[in-house]
Amino acid sequence: MRLLSILFPDQCRLCESPLNTTKRYPVCPSCLRSLVAFQADYFCVACRTPFSTPFPLNEQGLCGLCRRGLVGFDAAFSFGAYEGSLQKLILLFKYGGVHTLAAPLGQLMMKAFPPGFAIDVIVPVPMHWWRAWRRGFNQAELLAKEVSRRAGVRMCRAVRRKRWTPPQAGLSNRARRQNVSGLFEVTKPAEIRGLHVLLVDDVLTTGATASACASALKRAGARAVSVLTLARADRRVEPFPLPTPKTIAAASGGISNVES
Ligand SMILES: [Zn+2]
Ligand SMILES: [Zn+2]
Repeated sequence: MRLLSILFPDQCRLCESPLNTTKRYPVCPSCLRSLVAFQADYFCVACRTPFSTPFPLNEQGLCGLCRRGLVGFDAAFSFGAYEGSLQKLILLFKYGGVHTLAAPLGQLMMKAFPPGFAIDVIVPVPMHWWRAWRRGFNQAELLAKEVSRRAGVRMCRAVRRKRWTPPQAGLSNRARRQNVSGLFEVTKPAEIRGLHVLLVDDVLTTGATASACASALKRAGARAVSVLTLARADRRVEPFPLPTPKTIAAASGGISNVES
């Protein structure tokens, strides 16, 4: 307990109230309980992008991107919107180096996962080895491990990034798709062939990265690919508050290893 108090100040990193639990992460139970699941009256039945009106959806309930076959995955599930406390927690986890948050965050992801939904194997969205080495971990893999443990389904690092790409933040939807086109390579096709893959990542923004990764898995023989993320960008609220280096540094307690 003494050691943990040295590692973490005795304050919740979200609300600054004193921490009197012996949890391995510096966030209080009431902040974790305050996180709300995603709500939308209208959303695409396939990629689950939320809309404020039913008009972008056709009679089958599909959005424009899904109708044009631009989405490589079959379904997408996310716990909450990438804003407020959930965004702060993700920044703390990703850039603040608090990887012990993977446990409560993985628990939230399980809430987004439809009960009885059958998957065969869990694959984390890979990071470029250089970026993973700089950060010391791949946040998608830590979350995938948690989901794997809780769902009782094996995890496999089946995909790698072929090249380094600049961070996606700040790029248009189209530029993001170009940025990630042909980016992923399935290194273990035998492990996913004929199977329903659950691709795991921390945040789904435009879906371009998950889509490129899912397409590579399908080309390598995956039967279906669903995506599970902790949060997703909610484009119904404009302008979308993308994190800036300043908000990242604030959320991560001044640690400024700012990379996507
Ligand atoms: Zn708190
Ligand atoms: Zn869609």
